[in-house]
Amino acid sequence: MDALLVSPGADLRYLTGYEALPLERLTCLVLPASGDPLMVVPALEQPAAEASPLGALNLEIAAWHETDDPYALIASRLPGAGTLRTVGLDNHMWAEKVLNFRRVLPGAEQVLAGSVLGELRMRKTEQEIASLRAAGAAIDAVHRRVPEWLRPGRTEREVGKDIADAIIAAGHATVDFVIVASGPNGASPHHELSDRVIQAGDQVVVDIGGTMPDGYCSDSTRNYSLGVPAAEYADYYKVLLAAQTAQCEAIRPGITAEELDAVGRDLIAAAGYGDKFIHRTGHGIGLETHEEPYIVSGSARPLEPGMAFSVEPGIYLAGKHGARIEDIAVCTADGGERLNLTTRDLVVVDV
Ligand code: ZN
Ligand code: ZN
Repeated sequence: MDALLVSPGADLRYLTGYEALPLERLTCLVLPASGDPLMVVPALEQPAAEASPLGALNLEIAAWHETDDPYALIASRLPGAGTLRTVGLDNHMWAEKVLNFRRVLPGAEQVLAGSVLGELRMRKTEQEIASLRAAGAAIDAVHRRVPEWLRPGRTEREVGKDIADAIIAAGHATVDFVIVASGPNGASPHHELSDRVIQAGDQVVVDIGGTMPDGYCSDSTRNYSLGVPAAEYADYYKVLLAAQTAQCEAIRPGITAEELDAVGRDLIAAAGYGDKFIHRTGHGIGLETHEEPYIVSGSARPLEPGMAFSVEPGIYLAGKHGARIEDIAVCTADGGERLNLTTRDLVVVDV
């Protein structure tokens, strides 16, 4: 690539520490393959950019005014703009910005910068792992309190409100998602909240996460039962727990993403639930809740020390109930470290 163009989002925050507002006005880090980087910001955002960690990076900040064309400005400042062959755009750049860059750089092929930036972001530094560990501890503190709020007669939405408040109280800056999937809703992996009234005898999937003030995310799923579950549920929960445990214990450098997926999928299939595990095993996590590497069949990517990802097999019986156990884990030099440490057993709440 002859240059990278990075608009507001996790890539920009990763590279500069600047948590820029995602506005229609263009903010863009310009990184030519050779030559100095340039940060282009709307004039009204300049004070915020300078006050952010970006201000200490000692790179040029070029402000544009309301009647300027910031795309033309960037084209004029890119070394050899007319001869650029390939420019990398951050994977989440808005289409209107992509097309404006195509307008001012018509000779350049646009490709995804993720092929470069993803390689950097998926290998976490010690500092990033410490941030993910703190995020894991914060969401664990919320899971420990969930039994206080799960009561027959309350709706999923009411329980979800308590959980959301606790996610902030535990130190997160934002709540990213709250799934309280009770009874048959547990069979829908991305069910969020509904007005269903939780009943005695229900099993409840609680999958929650937030973003810490430093930008790193948490994500953990635990399962609760209001009273002792029926035999069918208890049986497949045992299978699920064995699969998730085996996967976490199989983490080590060199195992591929698809091999790690198969470690759990094979156990679940052998117990007769293969067609009930309807999603990949996991996703990378860092400044975004879902990022590389994905732990999925078809990915021959070998794990490396520093990679952080979820391990979250699930079993879903449509119309009845479901379960998913999710930890964030980090690949270490000789194995794996789980960052979520609350019990993975079914938590039985007395009713
Ligand atoms: Zn997840
Ligand atoms: Zn989750």
